Amino acid sequence: MNKKIDIIQNNKKVVCFMDLRATRVEINISQFHHNLLVFKKMIGDKPLCLAIKGNAYGHGLVSMAFHAQEFVDVFGVATVGEGIKLRENGITQAIFVMSSHVENEIPLLCQYKLTPFVSHGVYIDKYQYWAEYYQMMFPIHLKIDTGMGRSGVMPDNALFIAQKILDSPNLILEGLCTHFAMADESESIYTSQQLQIFQKIIDTLQLNGISPPLIHAANTAGIINFRESHFTLARLGIGAYGYANHEEIAPVLSFKSKITIVKTIPKGYTVSYGCTWTAQKTTTIGIIPVGYADGYQRSLSNKAKVMIKGQLYPIIGVVCMDQIMVELPNNSQLWLEEDVLLYGNDSYLNADTVARWANTISYELLVSIAERVPRIYL
Ligand SMILES: *Cc1c(COP(=O)(O)O)cnc(C)c1O
Repeated sequence: MNKKIDIIQNNKKVVCFMDLRATRVEINISQFHHNLLVFKKMIGDKPLCLAIKGNAYGHGLVSMAFHAQEFVDVFGVATVGEGIKLRENGITQAIFVMSSHVENEIPLLCQYKLTPFVSHGVYIDKYQYWAEYYQMMFPIHLKIDTGMGRSGVMPDNALFIAQKILDSPNLILEGLCTHFAMADESESIYTSQQLQIFQKIIDTLQLNGISPPLIHAANTAGIINFRESHFTLARLGIGAYGYANHEEIAPVLSFKSKITIVKTIPKGYTVSYGCTWTAQKTTTIGIIPVGYADGYQRSLSNKAKVMIKGQLYPIIGVVCMDQIMVELPNNSQLWLEEDVLLYGNDSYLNADTVARWANTISYELLVSIAERVPRIYL
């Protein structure tokens, strides 16, 4: 990324960055470090797993891993491919593969020393086979479904599968974990019920002489709202990137662009596909080269606002694949190349607000920022 080319202009050498387009994501690394420290303070000296899946929630997988390295003990990815990418870029910390995988990926898990979360007994023989093949001890975590209704073994099967893992000479039952469905609602008893079920399994295993060293349940909301969910490790995600109900953290990423065309349209003229917006008077509009191919959702059409010179301006017409149009004030004729904040580190115009306009959540907005948008680390 950011390949440089030298060009000669008026006998002077000018350096151009090939991906220095108007639209970019600026990532504030000191804010990221600050957020990490806020959560580290909450969990004490327990090891911290940073969820870095989904291209580090859109922030850039490998770069964020490097910037987080000195603060976290484990990285959490969803896919084997994300784990391999981290390994190939020199990341040596433990890596949890938190989503499920197919049998063909098991040799890769072993080769790249990636730690899977196990949700059924079918692959245990296969893990054993490949661990033996590579002559290694292979750590795995047993995941329990305590109410999420997604991955994890049902509570009644936990002991049986734990035994099966322990009976496999090349496997290590390193961890026992679960995941919350409602931890962002601090008043809800659902999380307490999940914790009770989890604790019962911890106790049952212990009675049978099984005590995996890493017991973990908490995501960001769990860390903040349920102190008793911290166990011996926490899995921090969205909070590290600045989106959680905690006043000491702030967004790390700002999605920005520039106005690249300013023009005036007459009363009655319509804007964008489908002619959904009509000028009620002579209107100055700005065109911004960002669209749904960049991860700026089409559902924001005629709804969202962007910030220019500290003020909010409405998007008019539908969001195109590569462009949006904004209604500007009449004195904006000279706003060519003016900076535009789409959303980011702003108390109002952040991913939560824009996600509400798009009828989604900050997570989905952030991970949707496309590969083609350059990430600039500040
Ligand atoms: C993504 C993920 C997390 C982090 O969740 P946040 O809500 O972003 O903190 C934790 N655990 C698992 C299993 C995950 O997949």
